[in-house]
Amino acid sequence: MPGYHSPQVEVEVRLNTNESPTPPPAAWRAAYAAAVADIEWHRYPDRAATALRRAVAGLHGVDPAQVFVANGSNEVLQTVLLTYGGPGRLAAMWEPTYALHAHIARLTGTGVVQGERAADFSTDRDEVRRVFDEASPSVAFLCSPNNPTGMVDDEATVGEALALAAAGDALLVVDEAYGQFAPWSALGLVGDDVPLVVTRTFSKTWSMAAARLGYLIGPAPIVAELEKVVLPYHLDAAKQLAGTLALDYVDEMNDRVAGLVEERGRLVARLADLPVDHWPSGANFVLFRPQRADGGQVWQALLDRSILVRNFSTLPRLEGCLRVTVGTPDEDDAFLDALTEILT
Ligand code: PMP
Repeated sequence: MPGYHSPQVEVEVRLNTNESPTPPPAAWRAAYAAAVADIEWHRYPDRAATALRRAVAGLHGVDPAQVFVANGSNEVLQTVLLTYGGPGRLAAMWEPTYALHAHIARLTGTGVVQGERAADFSTDRDEVRRVFDEASPSVAFLCSPNNPTGMVDDEATVGEALALAAAGDALLVVDEAYGQFAPWSALGLVGDDVPLVVTRTFSKTWSMAAARLGYLIGPAPIVAELEKVVLPYHLDAAKQLAGTLALDYVDEMNDRVAGLVEERGRLVARLADLPVDHWPSGANFVLFRPQRADGGQVWQALLDRSILVRNFSTLPRLEGCLRVTVGTPDEDDAFLDALTEILT
């Protein structure tokens, strides 16, 4: 198997991995630095991550027993697949979508069934039904907003997938790594008797990609199964503190998200004036395809100007496509000016 790699290149403008362009609040940094001084380093951390789970539960109005936390949402996804996938079971997803859904499934020995998104990259409900009917997956993934297309699944689509999962004894995972940028969330559908988990991350909206922290909200009995599978003490004490303290700054996070959504609008408006196709985004990135230039060459020309975006140009159905993360206005202007120079 090839590994999964997103190139980390030293450049002036880094718009390739959908991080937040700005750091977390200075007050969080100070609170964290003070709290770290009191860690009992000779002891194992709280295995149940009690304070962090309580804080996440408070944020979403759920019970701490409905919260599972891990080292990034990738580890959340891996734990779900170790628990509910494995040899002889299938995981379903609709492509193009986040590559790690299929990749982690394969790493856990889970069979992979890849349905197709519609021509405009929206989730095709007939195709969702076909995959459930034909393959009877144990785990099905939706990604909303979807990476790399940016599209948001509507509530009817998620509801239909959930009904199919319930009827087929499957677990539906809705990956909401970019959930706060979108107009609605599947979190409201979670309940102890519903086969749905919704995953979230601190890497994007919380400006904490360096922390490697993610979580899911789901039925308490499912969280209990995940806790049996994940390694003991997998979340170190410093990380638990970082996440718990971050949740004291919800207003700052919401302001940051609102600013990025506004900036996304400006970025899209300027892209619309260029010879590129682009797709509607409910996330902090935009997928676009140069109309008359080769995507790979445009990617290289941007890199030559010290601007890094994500290159999807050789992937099936994404031929010629590039994805740009919403950055600061200055970063986005640098990108847009360079793209204008390259394309016109
Ligand atoms: N899901 C999606 C859709 C993503 O785009 C990403 C990050 N690129 C992740 C999950 C994983 O994020 P993390 O492990 O940093 O929480």
